[in-house]
Amino acid sequence: MNASPADQRRLLDIADLDARIRQAEATRKNPPQAARVNELLTRRQELSLELSTRLGARDDLRAELARIESDVAVVDARRARDTERLAATSNVKEAQGYESELASLARRKSDLEDAELEVMERLEEADAAVAEQEALIAETNKLGAELSAEGKRVVAEASAALESATRDRAAISATVPPDLVALYERLATRSAGAALLRRGTCEGCHMVLAGTDLQAVRQAAEDAVVTCPECGCILVRTEESGL
Ligand SMILES: [Zn+2]
Repeated sequence: MNASPADQRRLLDIADLDARIRQAEATRKNPPQAARVNELLTRRQELSLELSTRLGARDDLRAELARIESDVAVVDARRARDTERLAATSNVKEAQGYESELASLARRKSDLEDAELEVMERLEEADAAVAEQEALIAETNKLGAELSAEGKRVVAEASAALESATRDRAAISATVPPDLVALYERLATRSAGAALLRRGTCEGCHMVLAGTDLQAVRQAAEDAVVTCPECGCILVRTEESGL
């Protein structure tokens, strides 16, 4: 096929726009933030699971504390009743009975108070553990929201880039003979389509052309369409080609 050097050079612009279109499409479909957002979603699930465990532990301690407090109330009521009865009785044996029960109730109360203190300490730790986990989740949510917003911005930018590159490509390809564009498009399905030959190297596949191949390119007519013997793309010759 023959085409003017100027038309052949326009293929480089088309190839460049096609590369930009492909990149914009890839970014739009899968912005770099998407993977990280998914990681954060998984992380949040793990953190939430751990939060449930910690909330459960805290609820257990709260229930335990409530049980102890109700036991203390029972002991207090019992002591009040025994104290009252002790004051009212004139029976020595009965009085001894109340005194001994009051002593055992005092021991029981002291034990309960020790247990209460211990559970309160553990409850304080459990509250801190819950707060710590909630803070981690809030941080993860914040990061996720930021990344999502960034991802949306990147997708919007890629869409705009895609639109403008598509428009430019249509404008440029309208100025190039259709059969040349068709050849480029056919070759572009398995190579760069068209690439600059720079200092004897194909910029489509980055291979240095062998001496005989370079000689053949050198001898080709100016308007001949030559292709790279390595990758098959159209080799566009300019003053940079080193011919
Ligand atoms: Zn090549």
